[in-house]
Amino acid sequence: MRDAIIELIDVSKIYSVGEISTTALKDVTFRVYKRDLAAIMGPSGSGKTTLLNMLGLLDRPTRGKILFEGRDISRLSDKDLANLRNRKIGFVFQTFNLINRLTVFENIELPLIPRGVPRSVRAEMVKEAILKVGGDVSWLRKKPTQLSGGQQQRVAIARAIVGNPPVILADEPTGNLDRGSAKIVVETFLNLNKEGHSIVVVTHDPEVANCMEKIYVIRDGMIVGEHGADPKESLIAKMLESSGGRRA
Ligand code: ADP
Repeated sequence: MRDAIIELIDVSKIYSVGEISTTALKDVTFRVYKRDLAAIMGPSGSGKTTLLNMLGLLDRPTRGKILFEGRDISRLSDKDLANLRNRKIGFVFQTFNLINRLTVFENIELPLIPRGVPRSVRAEMVKEAILKVGGDVSWLRKKPTQLSGGQQQRVAIARAIVGNPPVILADEPTGNLDRGSAKIVVETFLNLNKEGHSIVVVTHDPEVANCMEKIYVIRDGMIVGEHGADPKESLIAKMLESSGGRRA
């Protein structure tokens, strides 16, 4: 069995707004292993984003335990948790979440600033990250809005990986993209996975989910299934396979 990086053990999350409480996750046990390549699918409101927020240490559970590399994170202060997140987890969002008044370079270097990485080293790391996601160094001086949606998402992925975190969590990363751009984003994730990153993608899109290795199904805050992905069910997977993009 490969080592688990993140473990949720019997995690429940209950949101209370006034008198109304919603159980977004019910006793979920979920592990992210080294080199995982997983999709999480489920209907709207089933708890996908809440699950991703728990895996990303962005929120604390109401009940249950979260272990990161074997360590119970409930004892960590918010500051230590933020440090851990900064070094270990890269986030990718549906709407890219780039800062439009900053250049692409400045967006990508953001996670390196709290770590005190010197500017010259940051410049090298940013360049390496943009090339790793199949981008171009000419993008670095531009503003995000001067790029296409697919290119912006690759910039967001470069920002997620610039500090070389072992885990990348993505929430509907292709939700705002056309098929061609979605294919490039999926291909980027597969390449990062080959390099050893664990990838967990929340998606509505079976085309994307079937490019991963396994698919978890969530419903009403519970994981109700886990099965292997079927690349035959995905045009994107077929296209990537024929161009050698998918892991053998
Ligand atoms: P999904 O990502 O699958 O659409 P979510 O995790 O966003 O599902 O939401 C699961 C449930 O929790 C939904 O019923 C949603 O309305 C509720 N929920 C999510 N976040 C909050 C919040 N901050 N406050 C109150 N209820 C919330």
